[in-house]
Amino acid sequence: MKPGIIGKLATEDEPAKMSSAEKKIFTAAAYAHLETKIPILTHCWAGWLGLEQIDVLTQNGVPPEKIIIGHLAVQKGTLDRVLKIADKGVYIGIDTILDIITKNSLSK
Ligand SMILES: [Zn+2]
Repeated sequence: MKPGIIGKLATEDEPAKMSSAEKKIFTAAAYAHLETKIPILTHCWAGWLGLEQIDVLTQNGVPPEKIIIGHLAVQKGTLDRVLKIADKGVYIGIDTILDIITKNSLSK
C-alpha cells in the first residue's frame, strides 16, 4: 500500500501572515513531495493565506497541479480570493458546502 496524499497542511484561519513554523511545515512537505511526487492537500479556510501557501510550496519546487487548496467553497466575501487562488493553477477543494449551508452564509 502506498500513500496517496501529503496532508493535511494547515495555516490558521484569518491571520495576517503565515507563521515561521507554518512555513517550515510547508517547506518540509514540499521536500517530501519532491522525493515522492505525491500531491499535497492543505487546510485553507475560506482561502485565508491560500496564495501564501501556494508560494511556499511552488518556491520549493512543487508544481501547482500537485497542490490541492482545501476548504474553498465560496462564502460571503471570499469569491475574489478563491478566484485568485484558482488562477495559480492549483486544484481547489470545494469541501465545506454543508457547513456554509447550515450557517446560511452563501453569497453569489
Ligand atoms: Zn481543514
